[in-house]
Amino acid sequence: EAQAPRKRGLAIPAGIGRSDFLQALEELAQTLGKEHVVLNDQPLEDGWLIYELEPNTHDSYMIMDGEETVSSACVHPGSVDDVQLVVKWANKHLVPLYPISMGRNLGYGGAAPRVRGSVVVDLGRRMNEILDINPDDCTCLVEPGVSFYALYEEIKKRGYTMWVDTPDLGGGSIIGNTLEHGVGYTPYGDHWSTHSGLEVVLPTGDLLRTGMGALPGNNTWQTFPYGFGPISDGIFSQSNFGIVTKMGVALMPDPGGCESFMYTFEREDDLLPLIDIVRPLRIANLLENVAQIRHSTIELAVSGLPRSHYYQSTGPIPEEVLQSHLEATPLGRCSWIYYGTSYGPENIRKYKLDIVHREFTKIPGAKRIDPQTLPKDHYFWSRARIAGGEPDFEELSYMNWVPNGGHLGFSPVSPTRGLDALKLWKIAKKRHDEHAIDLFIAFCVGLRELHMINLVIYDRGSAQRREAVEKCMRSMIDDAAEQGYGEYRTHLLFQDQVARTYNWNDNALMKFNEKLKDALDPNGILAPGRCGIWPERYRGRDWEI
Ligand code: ADP
Repeated sequence: EAQAPRKRGLAIPAGIGRSDFLQALEELAQTLGKEHVVLNDQPLEDGWLIYELEPNTHDSYMIMDGEETVSSACVHPGSVDDVQLVVKWANKHLVPLYPISMGRNLGYGGAAPRVRGSVVVDLGRRMNEILDINPDDCTCLVEPGVSFYALYEEIKKRGYTMWVDTPDLGGGSIIGNTLEHGVGYTPYGDHWSTHSGLEVVLPTGDLLRTGMGALPGNNTWQTFPYGFGPISDGIFSQSNFGIVTKMGVALMPDPGGCESFMYTFEREDDLLPLIDIVRPLRIANLLENVAQIRHSTIELAVSGLPRSHYYQSTGPIPEEVLQSHLEATPLGRCSWIYYGTSYGPENIRKYKLDIVHREFTKIPGAKRIDPQTLPKDHYFWSRARIAGGEPDFEELSYMNWVPNGGHLGFSPVSPTRGLDALKLWKIAKKRHDEHAIDLFIAFCVGLRELHMINLVIYDRGSAQRREAVEKCMRSMIDDAAEQGYGEYRTHLLFQDQVARTYNWNDNALMKFNEKLKDALDPNGILAPGRCGIWPERYRGRDWEI
């Protein structure tokens, strides 16, 4: 994989001189330990292989000038005391910090800070303990460096039968993903809703515990998320109001079996009736997990073969070319694929699956694919593992689609209604066509809402393609907002734009966030600009993009 040469040298945070900054780092190294303060002055590792390296220097999926979001240094605190020490140090020297858990937030900014020259606080490197697993309550308490995979392994090692809900890629941090409102695919797929209790270092260095954690001697921190008084947890997710050092998570007991299933639908227009069929089944919990409805082009991309294998010209892949390739796969010709899973013992599953079959096959041409007919390396089995609580890494095979593949996520939410899904899909389609980008659409079905997950895949080596995806993203965000749709999460570089779309009543929400920011972080040191929230010291000074 390529290494990008540095053109701009070491990134020093704005407002502090180079030698003052280096001296301040020296001071920090004396208390934290030399080996735990690492200058970011080496060539920047590029590419998705970096996923395995726990990247903590920059965004390896750069779209604009990659050196714009590069850190100056990375520190590795080993304890909560260390985190507090780093925060106090940052306040003293007015150095922006950017906390990450494991930095694997691929497609949304990776480990990159929003402000060039920030010091990355890599929590996961040394604070990676599973502090508690409670098989009676089915809960656990983890530190930032605990990945879905590590928790899964530990539960297995201890012989427990509880499940971990994992996102598409199991190597990321549980805390990092939950704070970003990430989703997984078992019935516990909404990660934020299954967390209980946070421990937070505030931007001034004070330490607090939320919920029942505020009551000394409690044994309910992980079982009752609310405690007494306002629920403060929410302000620490998708924000820059604190550094989370511990989090409680509910674990799902083994339901006594599970079974994944797949249906294909012939026509693109089937999306509308399909989603209207899915809605009541999902709300009634007959469809029990966060399922995915994927457009069939994805079937080609997850094969791991490049686009050029399927189609040599530029522009959208013609329908007939797509279908002729699909014909050669076990799915056959189709436009949409539904990946779902049913839970419980066989007789219980059968009851639910029969209803699903009856409802799905109301759509002419709907076809259940018998999993037994699929080869062992088919992508279906990757989805089945994830829906059964087993972490997986298959999803990365997407990145072979173009040379130097990188991705961004466009992720608006809508109610689970066919018309809404159709509108969002059309927005994405129009803008992708305009910029000659292949369209990869999956709808993740939450309880009452859809996340449309649109992976925008591009060649990172081409400045022209990077510009095209940026334009495409910016217009989709605006188009969606115009029709009343907003993103649930976005890449660092679009966070200002997305935050601006949530502007009801003269930006009342952002004004509230800014008030909180200024009160909690008077020096504006913590992750300035994250999620569009800028501290007073930065506001109106051309930082917003
Ligand atoms: P993952 O490894 O799960 O992909 P990251 O560590 O990249 O997650 O976290 C995603 C984003 O969430 C980070 O860029 C950061 O802004 C925020 N974040 C992650 N962990 C913490 C934390 N412990 N405290 C505060 N913010 C965090």
